[in-house]
Amino acid sequence: MPTAKSAGRSGARWRAAVAQLKREAPLICHYCGEAIDQSLHYLHPQAWQADHVPPLPVLVARGDDPDDVQWLRPAHRRCNIVAGNKKSPTPVVASKRW
Ligand SMILES: [Zn+2]
Repeated sequence: MPTAKSAGRSGARWRAAVAQLKREAPLICHYCGEAIDQSLHYLHPQAWQADHVPPLPVLVARGDDPDDVQWLRPAHRRCNIVAGNKKSPTPVVASKRW
């Protein structure tokens, strides 16, 4: 039984789901609709990443299995980061009175 804390980003089941997504899903970013080059280094902004749709906290709250490939979509690393920042409740720039 996977726990909410360990599931979704690590472990053998997560790696297997990511491997299956890489094999079977089209190389199209689900955010911007552009093609993804799987040969890029994983730290490259345009690199391939597996993203949870809906987001991981939603899956965990619903009791769905985050390691199931049906909840994964390919995305550019950069698009995933931008989307993650948008979801964050913390403002990026704190306003300051002069
Ligand atoms: Zn993209």
